[in-house]
Amino acid sequence: MNPIFSLEGKIALITGGGSGIGNAIAKCMIAAGGTVVITGRRETPLQEAVTELGEKAHYVVNDVTDLSQLEALVEQIETTIGPIDVLVNNAGINMKKPALEVSDEDFQRIIHTNLSAVFSLTRACAKRMVARQSGSILMISSMAAYYGIDRVVAYGASKSGVEGMVQVLTSEFSKFNVRVNAIAPGFIETAMMKTAMSSDPDRMNKALDRTPMGYFGKPEDIGWAAVYLSSEAAKYVTGVSLPVDGGNSIGF
Ligand code: NDP
Repeated sequence: MNPIFSLEGKIALITGGGSGIGNAIAKCMIAAGGTVVITGRRETPLQEAVTELGEKAHYVVNDVTDLSQLEALVEQIETTIGPIDVLVNNAGINMKKPALEVSDEDFQRIIHTNLSAVFSLTRACAKRMVARQSGSILMISSMAAYYGIDRVVAYGASKSGVEGMVQVLTSEFSKFNVRVNAIAPGFIETAMMKTAMSSDPDRMNKALDRTPMGYFGKPEDIGWAAVYLSSEAAKYVTGVSLPVDGGNSIGF
């Protein structure tokens, strides 16, 4: 690998890194020479993931929705493992319901996980990155931020909020050499996608029809994009949302 894409010596905190896209980001970042700390609410998948990922992987059991302890999480990681160079806000949840059936509790639960927690953890990491004048923050957004996909009103709103956050934080943090970007995945084969598709068998075929490349993405497709955006190769890239979607973004 060309050293400009290397993450050697870098530490990445990846929320929801025990499965799916977060786990693939961890794999790709380790392959690029990085050290990763993955989080999630359940210990067993994290333990298994770290065993598979090897000695450059660490885990912390952590629920991002418990906002009051995110500062302590960052402090613990920085004290025991080292300064966080890369934050990947990957943990997220979805729920498919027609908008008129979504309760206030449903809506707030999705916004709390996918948006409020992203802000709180980003603030905890960014204050240290700003002080060190170095860092990369990556949001895992979605094409649901851009397109009117039915039955995901809270999810779409949360991801649009994350995209807005990228713009504001780029404006505030660029002078401190802290970059903020998003990846907007299309249909990626993970547990979340399988759950979303299982409620509507016809949806799988419709999704394939709407994907110019004609097949769904793999979690590693997002992983390598995350490596690029976190590496020196992207040192002048900030404030962008990169679609990794097999062409969905030409028009859903
Ligand atoms: P998965 O459901 O496969 O994985 C989600 C991960 O997040 C799990 O490891 C889960 O672990 C963790 N997680 C969920 N809630 C919390 C929480 N409160 N605190 C900490 N960790 C949590 O989803 P994907 O890998 O598919 O999705 C990852 C990201 O990619 C999400 O932000 C999603 O919106 C986005 N995305 C996915 C797409 C797809 O097609 N798959 C498309 C577009 C965007 P645990 O349950 O143990 O806490």
